[in-house]
Amino acid sequence: MPDAASAGLLERLAEGPVVCAEGYLFELERRGYLQAGAFVPEVVLERPEAVAQLHREFVHAGSDVVEAFTYYGHREKLRLIGKEHLLERLNRDALKIAAEVARESSAILAGNICNTNLYRPGSQASSDQARAMFTEQVGWALDAGVDCIIGETFSYAEEALLALEVVQQAGLPAVMTLAVHQAPETREGWSIPAACKRLADAGADVVGLNCIRGPRTMLPLLREIVPAVNVPVAALPVPYRTSPAEPSFQSLRDPGYGDLPGGRPFPTALDPFTCNRYEIADFTRAARELGVRYFGVCCGAGPHHIRSMAEALGRTPPASRFSADMSKHAFLGSDTSLLEHNLAYGGEL
Ligand SMILES: [Zn+2]
Repeated sequence: MPDAASAGLLERLAEGPVVCAEGYLFELERRGYLQAGAFVPEVVLERPEAVAQLHREFVHAGSDVVEAFTYYGHREKLRLIGKEHLLERLNRDALKIAAEVARESSAILAGNICNTNLYRPGSQASSDQARAMFTEQVGWALDAGVDCIIGETFSYAEEALLALEVVQQAGLPAVMTLAVHQAPETREGWSIPAACKRLADAGADVVGLNCIRGPRTMLPLLREIVPAVNVPVAALPVPYRTSPAEPSFQSLRDPGYGDLPGGRPFPTALDPFTCNRYEIADFTRAARELGVRYFGVCCGAGPHHIRSMAEALGRTPPASRFSADMSKHAFLGSDTSLLEHNLAYGGEL
């Protein structure tokens, strides 16, 4: 058995399930360090300690992976906000912050690339641009000594294949996850199992889904992916109560509140749809039952979700020390030293 403290992603997957916390954009937006809309991780440069703190909280809660916060820290996003000159520093700093936390916690250090928002099927120019963006980011990650690269949130399978090629040229293990919107297919119209199989056959070490769909609408897709591929399958839903009628978190509508900016809860008013920790545990057990081996939670994830996921996999991360124990609650508990007049009042709460 490899030493857990030094084992990389592939060794750990050979031993059992791996947990990878995602969702840095949403959590740092909620904390007031990042702007919804453009969603660019300038926080890496402006408040590096806030990024390091969130990495630490996720590891404390059970994440085996520290994913450098370079999601949407790519050239197209920096161009959009007029700060392309900060691109390299942002990437190198994000990797350095993640590396420090990974080192102190023996977690896996992962680089990250994602959808470019430039890629267009059939356009060679867009493919070239996307490839150049992946190449520069993977290069910085390689310099930082990452163990693997997570390529995530791709709606076009062809864009994911392009990203995979770049990761492979760098000689790094690749986790490739697709983002599935309302239609259960990629944006170019491939079935999800077929797209995952293409990625696996092209050499991806882990394939699966991240973001966009909540547990309830991701699970049916996972059921089809697992038997279609011969590599570990990843499942990182958003922690929101999506449904067959509203399968993506962008498609959720809130009849309980009529004044939402833009008319929809996404992205800043999803709170009433948030999955509780028990729903995340249920999802984890169900996905594991299907054969999923790489777990996480994406946009909207809090450390309590990650802890719940880790515990559902039989782990006891440091944060489990504080997992709920209601036995000593003054009104609802069972401890024999609790006062009877309070316990008797429990039903009145
Ligand atoms: Zn996400």
